Amino acid sequence: MAEQKRDYYEVLGVDKNADEAAIKKAYRALAKKYHPDMNPGDKDAEAKFKEASEAYAVLSDPQKRSQYDQFGHAAFEQGGGAGGFGGFDFNSADFGDIFGGIFGDFFGGGRSRGASNGPMRGANIRAAVHVSFEEAVFGTEKEIDITLKDTCKKCNGTGAKPGTSATTCPKCGGKGQVVYTSQSLFGTVRNVSTCPDCHGSGKIIKDKCPDCSGTGYISSRKRLSVSIPAGIDNGQSVRLRDKGEPGKNGGPRGDLLVEVIVARHPIFQRQDYNIFSTAPITYAQAALGGDILIDTVDGKLKYTVKPGTQTDTKVQLKGKGVPSLRNKDVRGDHYVTLVVQVPTGLTASARDLLRKFDAVTGDSLNYVANNPDAVKNSAKGKKKKGPFGL
Ligand SMILES: [Zn+2]
Ligand SMILES: [Zn+2]
Repeated sequence: MAEQKRDYYEVLGVDKNADEAAIKKAYRALAKKYHPDMNPGDKDAEAKFKEASEAYAVLSDPQKRSQYDQFGHAAFEQGGGAGGFGGFDFNSADFGDIFGGIFGDFFGGGRSRGASNGPMRGANIRAAVHVSFEEAVFGTEKEIDITLKDTCKKCNGTGAKPGTSATTCPKCGGKGQVVYTSQSLFGTVRNVSTCPDCHGSGKIIKDKCPDCSGTGYISSRKRLSVSIPAGIDNGQSVRLRDKGEPGKNGGPRGDLLVEVIVARHPIFQRQDYNIFSTAPITYAQAALGGDILIDTVDGKLKYTVKPGTQTDTKVQLKGKGVPSLRNKDVRGDHYVTLVVQVPTGLTASARDLLRKFDAVTGDSLNYVANNPDAVKNSAKGKKKKGPFGL
């Protein structure tokens, strides 16, 4: 489930009637405080920065702001995205302006992303794999098909036609970045952006390698085996080391993160390492006690119902839950709710026996007829359709 999103006004700490300038000012303060460059490695700051940026993107746009005022977060939801920025078109917001304004002063030229001649680790890539409920409980082996980049053998990843080599980009002098100075609301600012000529590589390839068209990489479909550990839960990922994008300048490959999507089970529900289900028992089993079979992930299990068991009685089957990811010999429990079934479609003789049974256990069927003085008012139940149309 996606987390409950905070109200955008609350995120920026502004009044619902705040004007554009107040919103910009509030965002500017938050962005300065939480910008990832100011808080390296701080996930909490990063989340706050994203949250504030998202709020600003909406509230700074009059059209989006009025949609938000009318419909709340629902205005931007697209079929229940994956939370966070799910489905939100971040590029449509005018960040160039405000970021230039804020960070031009602070980081003037100091942002060292982009071209680097040292070894750089390749990016991580993501994929997903579907497994059944039981496969997640006991672990399995799955194969996935994925497009992987490999360094082009013809040019050894340089992208240049063999016998030629890349030259230093004249536009940025090999830095991969260009600096523009401009006037804005906040005074003179320096905007650093990726060099448009070399796209940040700092190099220009005149004669491109014919095999990889100058990219330095060859992409191909590969089939990989993914080991799904016992106990994995929906949404958790399995990391395959060195199966991500190739590194640059001799750096190591990134990783492949495979998200595991667990199918729903018709009778079992899972919460952490515990499993929950219901099991029907008959009125006779509930009253007299007796053996029943309960479905568990280990198969059918014999359970002895105690005499006089009420409906909704919860039973704990110790160690019949999901194995722990850390130690598969440690397992959660399986909780079963016993639900007493009221018999329907009785035969004439069964009805007769039930009437006799009632007569000797309190005569509830004739209680009202035998106690007319206890009746104050009369009401007749009307069968109402329940939430499931039953
Ligand atoms: Zn090549
Ligand atoms: Zn360049």
